[in-house]
Amino acid sequence: GLPHLSPTDPAAQALGYVEDTAQVSQAKYPNHKPSQDCSNCNFYQGAAGAPWGPCQLFPGKDVNAKGWCSAHATRK
Ligand code: SF4
Repeated sequence: GLPHLSPTDPAAQALGYVEDTAQVSQAKYPNHKPSQDCSNCNFYQGAAGAPWGPCQLFPGKDVNAKGWCSAHATRK
């Protein structure tokens, strides 16, 4: 795997990335749904069931399968 994306990385912070979708601030991100996480995001490239995987928006890093950011787009 790749190095884990740090939630304190400026690019991660710009999109409100967290490693656990349950930690998302609903006040800050009212459109967030608890069912949304990286594993069901269109930009996620990790293997099914893997705890971490690459994201097209953060090249060279792995994101947490249970994570979330404000660019989340549900995979069709
Ligand atoms: Fe996770 Fe999708 Fe955001 Fe990438 S774009 S960090 S896969 S929610």
